Amino acid sequence: MLSIEDILQRNVWDVAEDPHIEIPRGAENQRGIPKKALALLCPAACYTEMGEELLFSYEGCVECALCRVITPKDKISWRYPRSGRGIQYRFT
Ligand code: SF4
Repeated sequence: MLSIEDILQRNVWDVAEDPHIEIPRGAENQRGIPKKALALLCPAACYTEMGEELLFSYEGCVECALCRVITPKDKISWRYPRSGRGIQYRFT
């Protein structure tokens, strides 16, 4: 049985220069963000806890929208990447 990492490695990303997801930087500005949940549940490991701060990188995002659902609306900016950019799924 393939692991989630094996499955994700089959995909291709055409990463846009501008991030399609943004969260505030700095622990003070991140109050109310479910940091532990994001670090644990993001299937692409885009979120990493570093002390009190949550670090984020959008490059490997698989556009599942989990972070959009569990983060307060005023703490995240989420949209799909510009047309044709972002992940291109490979199902074989
Ligand atoms: S949309 Fe999904 S894959 Fe992308 S950063 Fe949010 S939780 Fe991670």
